[in-house]
Amino acid sequence: MLDLGAVEATASPAVQTVDLVVIGGGITGAGIARDAALRGLSVVLFEKGDFGSGTSSKSSKLVHGGLRYLEHGEIGLVFESVSERRVQTQVAPRLVRPMPFLIPVYKGAKPSFEIMNLGLWIYDSLALFRAPRMHRTFRGAKAALEVEPQLREEKLRGALEYFDCATDDARLVLENVLDAQAAGARCHNYVEVTGLHRGQGGTIEAVSARDCRTGATQRVACKGVILAAGAWTDESIRKLEVPMARQLLRRTKGVHIVVPRERLPLVRAITLLSPLDGRVMFAIPWRERTVLGTTDTDFEGSADEVCADGQDVRYLYESANGYFPGAKLGPDDVISTWAGLRPLIRGDEDASESETSREHEVFVRDDGMVIIAGGKLTTYRRMAKQVVDVTVRALVARELLSADRLAPAGTKHRPLPGAVGLDPPTLEAVAGIGRELMARHGLDLDTATHLCGVYGVRSWQLAERIAAAPHLGQRLDPELPYVWAEIDFAVQHDLAVTLEDVLARRVPLLLTSRDQGLGVCEAVAARMAELAAWSPELLTRNLEEYRHEVALSRRWQQG
Ligand code: FAD
Repeated sequence: MLDLGAVEATASPAVQTVDLVVIGGGITGAGIARDAALRGLSVVLFEKGDFGSGTSSKSSKLVHGGLRYLEHGEIGLVFESVSERRVQTQVAPRLVRPMPFLIPVYKGAKPSFEIMNLGLWIYDSLALFRAPRMHRTFRGAKAALEVEPQLREEKLRGALEYFDCATDDARLVLENVLDAQAAGARCHNYVEVTGLHRGQGGTIEAVSARDCRTGATQRVACKGVILAAGAWTDESIRKLEVPMARQLLRRTKGVHIVVPRERLPLVRAITLLSPLDGRVMFAIPWRERTVLGTTDTDFEGSADEVCADGQDVRYLYESANGYFPGAKLGPDDVISTWAGLRPLIRGDEDASESETSREHEVFVRDDGMVIIAGGKLTTYRRMAKQVVDVTVRALVARELLSADRLAPAGTKHRPLPGAVGLDPPTLEAVAGIGRELMARHGLDLDTATHLCGVYGVRSWQLAERIAAAPHLGQRLDPELPYVWAEIDFAVQHDLAVTLEDVLARRVPLLLTSRDQGLGVCEAVAARMAELAAWSPELLTRNLEEYRHEVALSRRWQQG
C-alpha cells in the first residue's frame, strides 16, 4: 500500500498540502526533488516504474561536454556541460570518473587531423583548461597503433586523445533519490500520477496517484506540480489533460550493444564516425565488457516497450568492424542490448535526428504546473536548479510560499551519498577505501575494487555484512565481481522493489552477464522473497517480468 504521509486519501479531507509534486523519477525528476527538498520545500516524487528505469538507465553512461555539439555551434551547451562535468567529478568522484577517448583519423577524413586538433583546443579552453587531462596528439599510424592496437592500420594518419567522464547512470539517479529522501522528500517508485485536480480558475490543487503494484489510489494535495517525464512528456500531457498547443518532443531511439571484452579489448573509449553513414558513435570499455553505441532514429511507438531491432544491432557491429577489422564482430558476439528514447525538444522539422539540439526547455504554466523537457544526464543538476528557481518564483508570486523560509540547495558542493565524508573528494580517496576494505575485512582485490567503485563510502556497510556472513561475499557470476551481499543491500537500502530493479539496475547482470542473469535469477528471487516477504505468486510474477525483460533485450534476434 502507498504510505504517503502528508497527503489526503481519496475520500477524506486534506490533511496537509505539500509544496511540490514531482512526476518522474529519472535523473531530471530525481535532481529536482533533491534540489527542492534541500531548499526546505516539502516534496513528493512519483515514479511509475523503478527510479531511473526510463531513459536515465539507457544512456551512453557519459558525463561529457559533447565534443560533437561544437560542430553544430552549440558553444553554450558545451560550456555548460564541461563546467558541470567538473562539478560532478567533485560531488561524486567515483560515479563520474575521467575516461580517455581516442579519435582515430584516416586519410581523407573530414574534419581533418588539424581541424580536430583545433576543435580539441577549443574543447579544453571551454573547460577553462581544467579538463580531467588536456588533449594529446599521436601523429602517424605507428604512434596511434601503439596506444590502441585494435585500430585498422590502412590509411591511418594518427589519433587524438581527449578526456571526458564515464558514469553509472542508474546509480546517479538512485543517489539523487537517496539524498532527496535524506533531505525530507518522499520518493515513491511504482506509483503513477494518473490525474490532476483543479480548483477555481483551473489551478492545480491535487494529483491522483496509483500504486502500480496494488492498484490503490491516493489523492495528494499540493501547491505546484513539476512534470519531468522525459520521453513520456507528451503522453503525460495528454493523459493528464493539460491544455498544450503543440507537441513538445521529438523522440529518437538510441541503442547500445554489449560484446565480450576479449572480442574487442580496448584500452580507451574510441570516438568513431560510422563508415555506414558518418554519424558519431562510441566503442567504450565498460565493466568487463565493451559497449558499442549508439543509434539515433526517430521513434513513434510506446515508450514503455522500446527495444533494439536487428537493423540497429547490425549497424553497430558493422560500423565497429570498419574500425576494428580484426574483431570481425557478428550477431553471435552480442551479449545484451539496451535501448532508450532521447526526449529532444521538437524544433526544425528538417533537421536530422543527430542535428536536433540536446538543450532543454522549461515551460511555466499559469495553472501551477511547470514542465521540463529535453536536456542531458550531464547537465541534470543545473537543469534541476533552474526548474526549482522558476517554480519557487511562481509559487511566491501566487502567495503560496514565502521565500524567507527557504535555504540555498548547495548542490554544487554537496556530495552525493556515496561520497559523504570523502576527504579529499577524489578517486584516490576512493581507492583508499578499497585498500582499507581489504586490510580490515579481508576482501579480495576484485571485490574491494568493485564495492568501493560502485558504492563509495557506503561500501563499508557491504563489507561488514560480508565479514559477518562470508557466503555473502560469493559471486553471483564467476566472471563478474558482483556479490550476494549486494542483493540484500539493494532491497534494504537501495530501494529495489522487483527482481528486475535488482538485476537490471542495482546489480546489472541483465547487461553484463553472458546469460543475462537467467541462470541465477531464481536464486536471487528466492532471496528477495525472503527479505521482502513475497508470496509465492509475487515471486512467480517477478520471475516472469524479469524473463520478459531479457526477451525484450533479445527481440532483435527475430529480425
Ligand atoms: P527519464 O529517465 O525517461 O525519466 C522520466 C521518468 O518519468 C520515467 O522513468 C517514467 O517512468 C516516469 N513517468 C512518466 N510518466 C509518469 C507518470 N505519470 N507518473 C510517474 N512517473 C512517470 N546524456 C548524457 O549526458 N550523457 C550520455 O552519455 C547520454 N547518452 C544517451 C544515450 C542514449 C541512447 C539516450 C537515449 C540518451 C542519452 N543521453 C545522454 C540523454 C539522457 O540520458 C537523457 O536526457 C536523460 O536520461 C533524461 O532523463 P529524464 O529524467 O528526463 O527522463
